[in-house]
Amino acid sequence: MARIKDRLKNNSPGPFFVDSSCIDCGSCWHIDPEHFAPTGRSSYVHTQPQGQKEIRKALLALVDCPVAAIGAPKELTPVLSSAFFPILVTKHPAGDVYYCGWSSKRSFGASSWLILRKEGNVLIDSPRWSAPLARQIKRMGGIRQIVLTHRDDVADHKRWAKAFHSLRWIHQDDADAAPEAEIKVIGLDRLPLGKGLKLIPTPGHTKGSMVALLGDQQQILFSGDHLWWNAEKAVLVASKDYCWWNWAEQLQSVKRLLGLDVSWILPGHGYAHQFKAGEWESAIKQILNHGEKVTTSMQV
Ligand code: SF4
Repeated sequence: MARIKDRLKNNSPGPFFVDSSCIDCGSCWHIDPEHFAPTGRSSYVHTQPQGQKEIRKALLALVDCPVAAIGAPKELTPVLSSAFFPILVTKHPAGDVYYCGWSSKRSFGASSWLILRKEGNVLIDSPRWSAPLARQIKRMGGIRQIVLTHRDDVADHKRWAKAFHSLRWIHQDDADAAPEAEIKVIGLDRLPLGKGLKLIPTPGHTKGSMVALLGDQQQILFSGDHLWWNAEKAVLVASKDYCWWNWAEQLQSVKRLLGLDVSWILPGHGYAHQFKAGEWESAIKQILNHGEKVTTSMQV
């Protein structure tokens, strides 16, 4: 738990606070921007939650925090023992999508997502191991397959796969991060993962990066660290700053996503976003138009 003696000075006065163990992963202000915000080096509570609904939201951020840097009043501790996650993000004919919370420090607080499907649920990237989350997921039908979008966000995949006897997918070029994965994807071809769900290799951020695409229309793109939404600037982002392998290849991978009908992007890091009709195509073109001009470290 967060320690009051390490409470950061810029927190607003009141019972909720962020302490100095914050690693600035962004999970809290992605899930609860009404109460948490970044300073540039860490997070802080900009407004204290009021009322049950707001307190519940702030507690979601607390549970999600990968390093337990968020403090809350002691009397709320019993509430914390009840499972909040997974929470519904959106319903889709190819599978309803839930946010798992319980971010892991090992994946720098990356988001993971659960798709509920008739033919078996699919987990996109791994949260940290959590018995309350596992109990909830078991009630929801377990996890048949785990997609590891790239090497950075594998977290506690071994425990999740063992608990649910899941099949894990990772690209061969990132497979040293999860050599236990049962299925290694090879090459650049799109790969069906059952009806209405496919994997698309998108090398760039890492050599073995992949995205997962749900549905044939009004699709949901699980983008790993290939792309994410920047809510402050209201733009889709591919980041040269955070490109660990090959920026030119990453732009080629962005180009291969033209022509999709994406209605939601659910990334590993950064904000999720729901697109208006036609917005996806122009967002991708904006990245391509600016991407090749980027010679210094910056986001496009
Ligand atoms: S979730 Fe925790 S570690 Fe991440 S930014 Fe918020 S307080 Fe910091």
